[in-house]
Order: sequence, then C-alpha cells, then structure tokens
Amino acid sequence: MNRRPLAPQTGRNWHAQVLTLFPKMFPGPLGVSLVGTALERGLWSLETIDIRDFGIGRHRSVDDTPAGGGAGMVMRADVLGAAVDTARERAGPTELPAIYLSPRGRPLTQARVRELALGPGVMLLAGRFEGVDQRVIEGRALEEISIGDYVLSGGELAAMVLVDACVRLIDGVLGAQASLGEESFEVGLLEYPQYTRPRSWEGRDIPEVLLSGDHARIARWRREQALALTRTRRPDLIGKTGSKTGAGEA
Ligand code: SAH
Repeated sequence: MNRRPLAPQTGRNWHAQVLTLFPKMFPGPLGVSLVGTALERGLWSLETIDIRDFGIGRHRSVDDTPAGGGAGMVMRADVLGAAVDTARERAGPTELPAIYLSPRGRPLTQARVRELALGPGVMLLAGRFEGVDQRVIEGRALEEISIGDYVLSGGELAAMVLVDACVRLIDGVLGAQASLGEESFEVGLLEYPQYTRPRSWEGRDIPEVLLSGDHARIARWRREQALALTRTRRPDLIGKTGSKTGAGEA
C-alpha cells in the first residue's frame, strides 16, 4: 500500500470562506472521509463567517420585506456587503473568487470545479429566505453559481457541494490520482460501469472481458461502454469540448 505523507507536499493551502447564517452546519459532511481527512492534514482550510454578526440593531436583523411587495424576506445588501468586505480583509492579499450560490447562476460544471481547485480557494455566500438584494451581487461583483435546476432552502448545502467537488481535486487528497482521469465528465463522457468481487453475485457475473487480463481489450470495452452510456443518458455531452470521441477511437 502506498502510504501518503501526513504533511502537504505542495505547501499550498486551498482556502474556503463561507458566509452563512448557520455556521454550525460546517464542516458537517466536509469533516468526514477523504475531504475531512484532507482538512485535518491541512491540505485545505475552512473559515465560516457568521452573517448574523453584521446584522442591524438590537435584534441583529439581516433581512427585510421585498421592495415592491410579495412573499418572504430578502437578505439586506448593507449587511451582506459588510460580511463580504470582512471576508476579503481576512483573506489578506489572496484574492478569492467571490461566489453567490444561487438557482439563477450558471450551472456548476466539472470544468469550473477544476479551475477553482487550481486557484487559491473560494469565498462563498450562502443565501437564505427568498435570496439576497440584487445590489450586493452587483456591488461586490459576485459570480452566481447554481448546483442544479431545483430550489434549496439555503445556499449552505450548495456551498458544501462546490467545496467537496473542488477539494477532491487538490493534490494529495485522493490516493490514486490516476483514478481522476477517467471519471465521469473528465473526458466529456460518463464513466463506464465498475465491478469488484465477488465474481458472481445473484446470478450476475462480472463481464468476461474485465477478467481477461487483455488491457487493450479492456480499454476498448470501457470506452465503448462510456460512449454508449453517454449517448443514451446524456447526449448533450457528446461533442462538447473535452469529449474524446474522435474517429477510430470509438
Ligand atoms: N427565491 C429564490 C430562491 C431562494 S432559495 C429564487 O427563486 O431564485 C434560498 C437560497 O438557497 C438562495 O439564496 C441560494 O443561496 C440557495 N439556493 C437555492 N437553490 C439553489 C441552487 N439550485 N443552487 C445554488 N444555491 C441555491
């Protein structure tokens, strides 16, 4: 077994700042398994900034009724602006991409995850209620990113999704870096089916080719499976940049 060193090899520390009304939600799922171990080993770090600390008045109010009327509450621009400014100050000279998790944002992709993972980290604003005052998005030049076409009750889970996806790409986090290259989306295709022991389970056998030891045949089979799966489930991915579907290969 390959034993991983306990200290980061790169000296690089990917930093996530999360602006939230619920700092207690963190690290939560980010504190276990691969990503949690990487946090303990200092391969990345996490800082929560409690939006409530910037609230107005005795009640530390962070939201108000929507201008123009309507249901629900909207998070105030002045409160969020102060929270973002404090986050920037705390990050010092490091400029972290500032992101507002939002169902109106550009959908998160593996390509964007890869870019963010290569950078110094992220500043993430997690909204609540009906969302945030438009002026803070514009005034602090926040990039809006969505994790999918559905509405969550808050941005915290979305922030965790983004951080999880980035951290597993940081050098030294995954044991076998080689396993990254063939994953879903990395080559613009969905991944081929995986099997492990036992060889036969409830009358279902591992495909013979995978037991053949013929690496060229195995590679060809996996490629065909990946293509067929992508064609039926996600035809929209075929032909996109990064999908290696060149003639003669398939
Ligand atoms: N009224 C808003 C939804 C607010 S949901 C609208 O219709 O667009 C409350 C918060 O949850 C948002 O501020 C955002 O931070 C987060 N959120 C909800 N759905 C999300 C999604 N698909 N991706 C990322 N963040 C989301």
